[in-house]
Amino acid sequence: MLVTGGAGFVPSHIVDELLARGVTVVAIDNFVTGSKENVAHLAEHPDFTLVEADLAYGLPADPAVEERFDAIMHCASPASPTDFGLLPIEIMKVNGPATLHLLERATTDGARFLVTSTSEAYGDPEVHPQPETYWGNVNPIGIRSVYDESKRFAEAATMAYHRSRGTDVAIVRIFNTYGPRMRSDDGRAIPTFITQALRGEPITVHGTGDQTRSICYVDDLVRGILALLDSGETGPINCGTEYEMTMRQLAETIVNLAGSPSQITYVPRTSDDPERRRPDLTRARTLLGYEPQVGPDEGLRTTIEYFAQRVAN
Ligand code: NAD
Repeated sequence: MLVTGGAGFVPSHIVDELLARGVTVVAIDNFVTGSKENVAHLAEHPDFTLVEADLAYGLPADPAVEERFDAIMHCASPASPTDFGLLPIEIMKVNGPATLHLLERATTDGARFLVTSTSEAYGDPEVHPQPETYWGNVNPIGIRSVYDESKRFAEAATMAYHRSRGTDVAIVRIFNTYGPRMRSDDGRAIPTFITQALRGEPITVHGTGDQTRSICYVDDLVRGILALLDSGETGPINCGTEYEMTMRQLAETIVNLAGSPSQITYVPRTSDDPERRRPDLTRARTLLGYEPQVGPDEGLRTTIEYFAQRVAN
């Protein structure tokens, strides 16, 4: 099986689970936002191969990539708000041309193709919670559009191959996921708040802090994604949790769990930042039997422990 972006936060957890199931995995990554450290524990694993390449230019000429794949999981894409500003063209290339190259390969191989789309496909939603039937509210020229629109393109490309070439495809729309192996400086709320709390620095909540997110621990997400891979479903299917909280509540929870003296401060909000976000999980439940199992306190505690080791070192 091929996992693109395999050295990234979410994909490296997918790789771990696939290997635990006895699947042979080839991961391709250019380490633009991922890290070799995320898969360092797999260096000697007989069923794991890591290939360094930029997928924007298609699949690399590497012996590990020559064999037929039975599934391709296209997870490569920078995904944090900081990346939207720093890597706009890279984001569009990996979700645009790279998706087309990988769909072509999946079609040739007769492989199942799964793409990790995003709740950002709904933009700043006017419907709450968001069902998969909602088409979204995206600013096509805003700073987030490089991500939102290129993921929407990836979904469109995936459905085009499915309809016109009969490719076996699956689309998962991932909602805010957190856990070990996130980058502390990627601009996402959870690693930012945790790092600030561990250092005793002010917690920088954007705007009034009333905007919400529904946070999902990475193990739950991986269960959902692999259930979709194993099913014959095309989707799109939302994956996440209904643990919706305001950014202020999230900051307070992290400060308490970390036993931190940090105070909350408020800084200006970025443009087009969605006001509310919560997935409608009806499809995931009925089609995949998906049910999140890790509550926010448990997941955040594990994540704080992960960052505590790094902040201390
Ligand atoms: P991540 O940045 O940690 O992982 C992405 C990986 O892709 C990185 O290892 C990166 O180096 C690699 N990559 C990027 N461009 C590449 C290219 N051109 N060639 C080869 N490798 C490339 O991000 P993540 O949070 O783990 O996200 C993984 C996937 O899940 C992404 O597709 C993202 O859009 C999607 N997603 C994540 C979340 C979330 O909350 N974490 C939410 C919605 C969607």
